[in-house]
Amino acid sequence: MDTGEAIFALASGQGRAGVAVVRISGGVAGSVFPALTDRPPPPPRHATLRRLTRPADGAPLDDALCLWFPGPASFTGEDVAELHVHGGPSVIAAVTDVLATLPNFRPAEAGEFTRRAFQHGKLDLTAVEGLADLIDADTEAARTRALWQMQGGMSRIYAGWQADLLEALALAEATLDFSDEPIPETLDDELRARILAVQASIEPHLGLSELTERMHDGLRVALVGAPNVGKSSVLNALAGREAAIVTEIPGTTRDILEVRLDLDGRPVVLLDTAGMRTTADPIEAEGVRRAVRAAESADLVVDVRDARAYAAADADRDAGRLVFWNKADLLGAPLPDGVTSGSAIAAGGLAQLEKALTRAAQEAMDGLARPAITRARHRAALRDADAALTRALSVGIPELMAEDLRSANRALGRVVGIYDIDDVLDRIFSAFCIGK
Ligand code: GDP
Repeated sequence: MDTGEAIFALASGQGRAGVAVVRISGGVAGSVFPALTDRPPPPPRHATLRRLTRPADGAPLDDALCLWFPGPASFTGEDVAELHVHGGPSVIAAVTDVLATLPNFRPAEAGEFTRRAFQHGKLDLTAVEGLADLIDADTEAARTRALWQMQGGMSRIYAGWQADLLEALALAEATLDFSDEPIPETLDDELRARILAVQASIEPHLGLSELTERMHDGLRVALVGAPNVGKSSVLNALAGREAAIVTEIPGTTRDILEVRLDLDGRPVVLLDTAGMRTTADPIEAEGVRRAVRAAESADLVVDVRDARAYAAADADRDAGRLVFWNKADLLGAPLPDGVTSGSAIAAGGLAQLEKALTRAAQEAMDGLARPAITRARHRAALRDADAALTRALSVGIPELMAEDLRSANRALGRVVGIYDIDDVLDRIFSAFCIGK
């Protein structure tokens, strides 16, 4: 722990009506209390009301609730002081100006409190990422997932895999002791079984990962269909704003527009695509090409059609494809139940489509229940671990197996940012009583 200095920053402020929290962290953080309140730190973790004064001339600054978290039981793991002051900008400025004059105090850099928490083992890397995701979360689903990750949900998954790997490694190390004689078959079988078990639990996460990363941004839904069926109108009506140019001349939607929707807390990205048709106009042709690409990359394709051309034979929904019969307002009679239809221009005319999209987003998100991978770096590490396990199974020589297991474990450790080889030694001696 660095004892020689302290960093400080406004940790939260809620405007004039609220409370602003000035946080101070580091070895000399506690010196803020004698300096500003003329008294030692208050009892740990007890809110204590004190008058803050400027050390130079004793001028009062504010009455503040003071909190003292001696390290390591604090957010950063260092000594942390918090001053809960009145939220006005001049109060905050007066307090932070005074803090800057205290010996060895300096303003914190962006993310520095979190970095210190990581350095002191308070948060692992996945928790840091969860915290970042939580701050960015703009839907209920994203918030829930980020919170789970921040609270160590992902770390626990990795810790479980690492614990299983360390058991396997301990077994492999144990077989080294039989180097002068044949390895008992049961030991070898057990080792392989354990490696396979770890692999079996890692691999599904690899398969999910791409979808998960995409779900981070939202279920991608492409609107396709012939020119003039009303794709842009549907998009605009869903987005509630004029995002795409809507005209009566076929082929005017020349580029792909993306609109983010929040359907019951689930993120959905709508892609509007140029009319799907063959054309001689090169600009329009490019639009069509992009439309085809977008449709191919989408999680769900909504095929918009003119309700007046309704034909029961066209499947309403198959995997990844949903037919939406638009312009139903122009029909004399409604389409049969169970057919997704509606109108982009009638009030509430897109209720059925919204319901279908919400259901699709929900199915996609629920299928992911607490993903282990939200970032490319996690996937890269999991791939490395998986490859090392495959190697371990194929080499069959205990020394090399142990090496591959160590490398798989290191790969997993990279994700959480912690790697501790001493654990292996502990396990060998505690679990296997080699007795040498
Ligand atoms: P796109 O080429 O598929 O994007 O079609 P647009 O959204 O540009 O719509 C083409 C024309 O159909 C416009 O005149 C729209 O106002 C009209 N339109 C779109 N949706 C509906 C609808 O549900 N009912 C009616 N009556 N007209 C619609």
